Amino acid sequence: MSYETLEGLTTREKIRKILTDNWRLEGGRADLPISSLISRVKWTERFITTVSINSATGRTRMKCLSDKERSELLSKEVTNLYDAALDGQDHVFKLEEIFGDLIECEFKEQSDEQQATLVGIVWSFLQRMPACCPELPERLDNVPSCYFSSDVKSWTHLRVASLVHTNLIRLLLDYALQILHGGGGVCAGSSDLQTILNGVGELIDLISLGEFADSSRSNPAVWFCVRSYLWSFWQRANTFQHFAWVTRKLGTLDGVRQWRIGNLGYDYGYSRQFSPSPGVSLQQLSRKVSQTDTKAKNVCNWTLELLIGQHICYGLDFRLFHERYAAILGQEPGRCRSNSSEACDGKHFQNCLRFYGAKIENQTAHDVSCTYNSESEPRLPWDEASYRSVSGARAVHIDAETGSTIKYCAASDNTLTISHVWSHGQGGRPEEGINQCLHRRYCAIARRLDCDSYWIDTTCIPDEHKLRKEAISHINRTFSSSKAVLVCDKDLMKVDIRDLTLQLKESILVAVILSDWNTRAWTLLEGIRGRSALYILCKDNLTVNLADLLMDVVDKGRIDIVVFVWQVFHMLPSKPYNKLRVLMEEPDDEIGDMGSWLSNRPASRSGDDFVIWSLLIDPEKPPYSDAVEFWRAQVGRLVRTGYLVSSTKRLKKKGLSWAPESALVTSTIPTDPTSLVSHRANNARRSEYAMIT
Ligand SMILES: [Zn+2]
Ligand SMILES: [Zn+2]
Repeated sequence: MSYETLEGLTTREKIRKILTDNWRLEGGRADLPISSLISRVKWTERFITTVSINSATGRTRMKCLSDKERSELLSKEVTNLYDAALDGQDHVFKLEEIFGDLIECEFKEQSDEQQATLVGIVWSFLQRMPACCPELPERLDNVPSCYFSSDVKSWTHLRVASLVHTNLIRLLLDYALQILHGGGGVCAGSSDLQTILNGVGELIDLISLGEFADSSRSNPAVWFCVRSYLWSFWQRANTFQHFAWVTRKLGTLDGVRQWRIGNLGYDYGYSRQFSPSPGVSLQQLSRKVSQTDTKAKNVCNWTLELLIGQHICYGLDFRLFHERYAAILGQEPGRCRSNSSEACDGKHFQNCLRFYGAKIENQTAHDVSCTYNSESEPRLPWDEASYRSVSGARAVHIDAETGSTIKYCAASDNTLTISHVWSHGQGGRPEEGINQCLHRRYCAIARRLDCDSYWIDTTCIPDEHKLRKEAISHINRTFSSSKAVLVCDKDLMKVDIRDLTLQLKESILVAVILSDWNTRAWTLLEGIRGRSALYILCKDNLTVNLADLLMDVVDKGRIDIVVFVWQVFHMLPSKPYNKLRVLMEEPDDEIGDMGSWLSNRPASRSGDDFVIWSLLIDPEKPPYSDAVEFWRAQVGRLVRTGYLVSSTKRLKKKGLSWAPESALVTSTIPTDPTSLVSHRANNARRSEYAMIT
């Protein structure tokens, strides 16, 4: 299945007309300080304030509406929309007229050449958006035929769901103007678009609550039509906002096109919750959409919970997301359950074999070229004397490839580090050794990526307690200073990248998000530290640079895929884009940011979650494995109160009864199998700070 895109529902001429229809009058309006702006798009203020003119002085005066006045105005707006939708023939035109009035829009006049460029940019955005947004979960058979564009009563033929709203074009034009002239714009981070989305959400909510369905306006089909009209606008505008946030992180710096991402916590605005359908919240609808019929059977629901358990994913379209995954890995057997290809229920990580309960054997993995089977291949153990002779972080010397033991050198900025999932069979300890074929593979890849050594825990973290502790203390620097970090995941290693099309790149983004590698705690640390140079290991030992791949997806890929780049932005090179920006950055709340990244990502050893959490927030200090010690060490730091709201159990210690006992969301399995009791911790960046005392 592949979707039609949105440009098929409009024309370039219509876009140009919306641009010229909204020219700012010479001089601008006196009450608005806008003359220097290229464009201004904002939600009407008439639901908040009234403006009156004093006839004696000629001065304008603003007054806030009372709750009663505001609620009357909103009901009037909603009933106007109902009356417009009553017209079976002309309802689309009439709805557009009323809704168009709710957004104030002014563009600075542009030359013919600029107009053509702007229309071209908007057109290219529309070509990257699906023609139809996710449907509302309601029956269509009672909706009269006049509301459909054909005899088929389906969501895709519903006229109010298959149009390009004038207001959407205005948002896109605003963004296009910012691209053309440089600058912020409503889509690029200001709160204006969020206010528009919240305003539309409020109208939808009022309709879903049904308070206006009096005797004269009681036709549910007409109300459905109005809601669907507003919902399809909201869903597209919300998607575009996410897209704009992502593109804002990509720019030219020092003459080079690159990612410019500062801190690691994301700020998803303050979207209001609303009910797109009566009795169905945005969160519930989003969960339903994430289980769309394009979802492959093998997609693990606990992993999917990584996404849909977050506010930032509410309202996103998962249809193409799942389709892109299915295109490359949909046929693989599921790994959630022992005797079934069905996925786990997603309620707890302990219900999924990918995370819990599977028997793990070290060094069962082999390179594609290997002729041995599991047991018979001789392993290369460490040369302990060589290990001990190097001080600081050790890496495997690749010039000493031949021989019966592993030789070491100091890890450096010429080292290739390898990040893998232990349960995929490459785990082990240097005392026991590594399969020869794996050693040869990493030597070859290291050479290809211009490295002179490689680091993998299997060869570089000994079992002996003191040496292990020392090796872990170097792990941050080993990953952050290495030349390349290779991501090894047995699913990603099946992806053939010889013909690396844009569509395949989109598939790889989704596959990385849903990979085992992305859902473990240690690999989270390794991915974050290695973010400046992550390479994905694909079929036949070919590698692809993740940041380069994603740059292409953001530039040219489908917008309903690009919005998921937020899920991996902790894996992208970090570069604050100017000094001012760094100064303006809010105080760090790394405890909560990192805690929320860890909250669905288990580590196998108990206590490791705190070790990893400490390594993430205090790279230079020895890590803590004990929860109480960890939290006591945080005295004097800030944590978002929003982060502390989760279903994770608290410590039973005086003074720490507020402190989560683990980074992971919860430690108990729900007794009622039908209920979803875990509420994962999200770092709500808009919530208040608390000081740990
Ligand atoms: Zn699962
Ligand atoms: Zn082998």
